[in-house]
This record gives sequence, structure tokens and C-alpha cells, in this order.
Amino acid sequence: MFEYINFYKVHLFFIFMTEDCIFCKIAQGKIPEELIYESDNFIAFPDANPNVKGHTLIIPRKHYVNMMDMPATLGRELMDAIKSVADIKLKQGAEGFNIIQNNFPAAGQVVMHAHIHLLPRKKGDGFKSI
Ligand code: 5GP
Ligand code: ZN
Repeated sequence: MFEYINFYKVHLFFIFMTEDCIFCKIAQGKIPEELIYESDNFIAFPDANPNVKGHTLIIPRKHYVNMMDMPATLGRELMDAIKSVADIKLKQGAEGFNIIQNNFPAAGQVVMHAHIHLLPRKKGDGFKSI
């Protein structure tokens, strides 16, 4: 009995989390975004408030809160997504790129759906990374 209650609690929590999540809405096509890249488990689209030209977000289609929540089995596909987006940006004239990933509010995470920032760079663009 107790296991059933816990099972439903976990599922209800998941449903409420995803209903309010802006990135889930983007992944489900409820909010239109220009998709730069898509694969079975990931999509990439422009950041609404770009820190540099071409600032792109790579997100899992499924709701994971942050990197700690994501299964390691997605690692290979995630690496493919990052390299594919970087390849597009380099072909469009970027001379380099940063990948930034914030986990938990203390580290600057605002949207609680795991995502990777890919920032195309040019020499002298003035962006201060680490
Ligand atoms: P965080 O600080 O959580 O790592 O970054 C969240 C990022 O998501 C921010 O750079 C912000 O500009 C971006 N963002 C927030 N809401 C939206 C949205 O609805 N659409 C897009 N394209 N980007 C968003
Ligand atoms: Zn979500």
C-alpha cells in the first residue's frame, strides 16, 4: 500500500513539474522555437536572451531537473548534440565556443529543466568566461 502511495506521489510531482516547465513546453512544440538541431532525446534552439551572437541551448526532450538527474546513458547522444551544434556554429563563422552548464540555483540555474549553453566565440568579442 505504502509503495503505491509513493509511486503516485512521484508521478504527480513529475506531472506538476513538467506542466509548468517552459522547456518542456518548447520540447513538446507547445511554444514554437526555431530548432537548430534535434535527435531522439535532445533539441537545440536559440537562447531568448543571448549573451553572445548565436547563444544556443541544448536540452533533453524529457524533463530532468539538472545534470545529476540525467541518466549517464544519454551521455553519448548529448556529446553528439553538443558537437553537432558546435559544428554548425563553426561553419557559420564562429572561431571557438564555450559550453556552460548551471546546476542548482546556487550555481545560477534559473530554468529547472537541464540544459547546456553553447556560446559561439570570436576573438575580441568581449565575453568574459572563466
Ligand atoms: P540558466 O540560468 O537556467 O542556466 O539559463 C536559462 C536560460 O534560458 C537563460 O539564458 C534564458 O535566457 C533562457 N530562457 C528562459 N526562458 C526561455 C524561453 O522561453 N525561450 C528561450 N529560447 N530561452 C529561454
Ligand atoms: Zn521540463
